[in-house]
Amino acid sequence: MSQTFFIKTFGCQQNVADSQRIASYYLARGYKPSKTIKGASEIVINTCMIRQSAEDRVTGLVKNIAKSHKLKPKLVITGCMVGMATRDESGKYLRDLRKRMPEVDEFLPLEEVGFDYPALRNEVEKAWVPISNGCNNFCTFCVVPFTRGREVSRPFADVIDEIKDLASKGCKEVTLLGQNVNSYGADLVKNATKGYELPSGRIVKPVMVKHLGRFRIPTLFPYLLEEVCRIKASPSRPRIAGRSGGIQTVKFISSNPWDFSDELIDVIAKNPKIDRNLHLAVQAGDDKILKRMNRWYTREEYLDLLKRIRNKIPNAQISTDIIVGFPKETKSQFQNTVKLAKEANFAYAYVAKYSSRPNTAATKAFDDNVPYAEKERRFHILDQLINHKGSLRTAVH
Ligand code: SF4
Repeated sequence: MSQTFFIKTFGCQQNVADSQRIASYYLARGYKPSKTIKGASEIVINTCMIRQSAEDRVTGLVKNIAKSHKLKPKLVITGCMVGMATRDESGKYLRDLRKRMPEVDEFLPLEEVGFDYPALRNEVEKAWVPISNGCNNFCTFCVVPFTRGREVSRPFADVIDEIKDLASKGCKEVTLLGQNVNSYGADLVKNATKGYELPSGRIVKPVMVKHLGRFRIPTLFPYLLEEVCRIKASPSRPRIAGRSGGIQTVKFISSNPWDFSDELIDVIAKNPKIDRNLHLAVQAGDDKILKRMNRWYTREEYLDLLKRIRNKIPNAQISTDIIVGFPKETKSQFQNTVKLAKEANFAYAYVAKYSSRPNTAATKAFDDNVPYAEKERRFHILDQLINHKGSLRTAVH
């Protein structure tokens, strides 16, 4: 009987994109995809560690499969939990994982899958396209630099070739993915003192973005966006009347407020193909909390960025991420976040209650001292204010 696999993905779009590569990796090894989790001889769980609850869901699923699946499938864990274990030189995190989930047969580091497998996509018209992996920023609450490691950019030509190939197959919308797309290319242009040659032959001067308050990181993201917008459909594909063919919508996530450059704003303003829904995680509206989060901007700088974006891109819709109950966040510091939310006029926000994550600076340095009930209260205030404006209005009148 041939071996079959099923991939269960937790977490963000980057994990979804990774799972598409893992599927290719399994196909290349002669496995067939299983339509259901119960019918698979091997189950791969692509994990997320952004919050403790995400880890708990993985543990719960492993226990459930071990108890109830008649085929007794091989259980493979990959993704962020394994990334953390691989980078933890003490070996403690891996020992903890084995103890927590003795049912698991294999812990598969994503590095073993590599980046050469093409993504196996079910959808033709829309695609997630990773442009970088990892992060150098070390926000004190965030586990990503420990699970994915330092930022590595995919070569410019690889990204363009993949999107050209997608366009030739009928893809119309791409979402460029990275933990921080704005710093894309910083590792590619290190020695490009005389400029960087794009695959099109154009020589460009890297755009400098802010690091610790100074413009010192050279990046290529605005150029990548421009080049992606230029990708046309293959001449052999039939055109839909009234449409130009090729990539018609370009989206990107995630991008940070401190290195969202004026050049990037100009590129978006000039290219109508680039989506006007921009996600800019603010995380807090109080300068002291932002500093303790190791976010390199103040509330004024953040609001000024929104102003500059809206001046040049009048139809921009800004969404955000906010963490409530960060260690030692006082009621008045939380009120500063409420004030910022009112001023920023966000389209929507992902509001999260702070969750202590292993190895992070916040976990090492601060007590998670805001009681859960208070985190809940702050969560509801912001969620109502930003995400349920209509219902709030109804309630008021
Ligand atoms: S920028 Fe900060 S929040 Fe985003 S992935 Fe990097 S460390 Fe995490």
